[in-house]
Amino acid sequence: MLTIKNLHASVEEGHEILKGLNLGVKAGEVHAIMGPNGSGKSTLASVLAGKDGYEVTGGSVDFDGVDLLDLEAEDRAKEGLFLAFQYPVEIPGVSNINFLRTAINEIREYRKEDKMSAKDFLAKVKTASNLVELDSKLASRAVNVGFSGGEKKRNEIFQMAMLEPKLAILDETDSGLDIDALRIVSEGVNKLRSEGRSIILITHYQRLLEYIQPDFVHVLNDGKIIKTGTKELALELEEKGYDWINEEIAQ
Ligand code: ADP
Ligand code: MG
Ligand code: MG
Repeated sequence: MLTIKNLHASVEEGHEILKGLNLGVKAGEVHAIMGPNGSGKSTLASVLAGKDGYEVTGGSVDFDGVDLLDLEAEDRAKEGLFLAFQYPVEIPGVSNINFLRTAINEIREYRKEDKMSAKDFLAKVKTASNLVELDSKLASRAVNVGFSGGEKKRNEIFQMAMLEPKLAILDETDSGLDIDALRIVSEGVNKLRSEGRSIILITHYQRLLEYIQPDFVHVLNDGKIIKTGTKELALELEEKGYDWINEEIAQ
């Protein structure tokens, strides 16, 4: 589904953040990316999504047979890439529903499919909002405007359920959630797991990975993946922090 080879990216001239990152994600797999603050996790998510302000200076990204780096951000989304933001964006004046209806129909047009009927769309809104127990009133309000921190995070997963991506990148979707919301959001994500869909979970906390069990756990440090393991690695990180990995590598 995703093959990242030797990816280098900078924010401003000469300030390199990603320094030769390699990662392979197969269809249906869930990969967790952990790492200290400032290691480049959100930068990786932004570069993959095609956010402005980043310059890719080397490497390649293959997304299900497509050269991802060659595409505009909106075409990456149409190819089936979804990013749940660490800091969800408020869009005053655009209702959640209209935003999603437009997005879904744009995706369908790109794939040369017919528009979704109003009836199917509303049924989908109902299923997707139930999935994360999102108050139905929030669906018709402006995107994220006046939403609480937890509601914004639920809304990201609501959007994911609506857009049905091939690859979803969830950037610290667990941060700012209380324990009940964490459970609800995690159960929602688990229901969205499927053979054809891959998920990358960026998180600081082992706790999320108790709910959403990853196939692999990677440690990102200083713009590179420096260690890969299974769920047990996350437990080890929780217990020992990150420094021991650098010591292990130095040895
Ligand atoms: P993480 O998500 O792992 O905490 P980030 O990817 O957000 O880390 O940031 C990695 C590094 O890149 C940090 O040192 C951060 O200050 C820097 N950085 C990220 N975005 C920008 C930007 N737009 N301008 C300048 N520096 C940035
Ligand atoms: Mg951070
Ligand atoms: Mg971040």
